Amino acid sequence: MTKVNKCIFLDRDGVLNEELGYQVTKAEEFKVKEGITEPLKHLKQAGFLLIVMTNQSGIAKGDYTEDFVLECHERIQQAVGGILDDLYFAPGHESVSRSLMRKSDSLMFEKAIAKYKIDAGKSWMIGDKERDLIPAKKLGIGTVHLTDKEASEYADFKVHDLAEATSVILNE
Ligand SMILES: [Mg+2]
Repeated sequence: MTKVNKCIFLDRDGVLNEELGYQVTKAEEFKVKEGITEPLKHLKQAGFLLIVMTNQSGIAKGDYTEDFVLECHERIQQAVGGILDDLYFAPGHESVSRSLMRKSDSLMFEKAIAKYKIDAGKSWMIGDKERDLIPAKKLGIGTVHLTDKEASEYADFKVHDLAEATSVILNE
């Protein structure tokens, strides 16, 4: 299979919506971050697919439903003008059942890579947790750690927000 596309893989919580420090289970608590549309547009214009990779183990644990996750994804898409190409979520949790989809495992990425014919070597993962970066590193995807704390050893770059992540990637 020819790998023809390049992709920006995006973690969701803390990258596209506010990380509030607790598990959001109500629509009114879900807040899309300010200032994410322009950076995403620039990445799209540079030819990248935009695909979200998010762990949502609250589904397996019964904290919220799959419908709630889909509602949040619709909210993000509305905020950014429908620019995201796809949103993958891993509903599992090891306390309920083992899932290779859940980051820091890499099956969710591998599925997207196969479906969208993605060249991992030309692609990037932007995430705020080390477990976002581990599967990317394993697959040869570049890693950008969005954090105000110390950079992970799995990070190629450390940035403070999505706009800075975009500048770093477009300058590479
Ligand atoms: Mg996150």
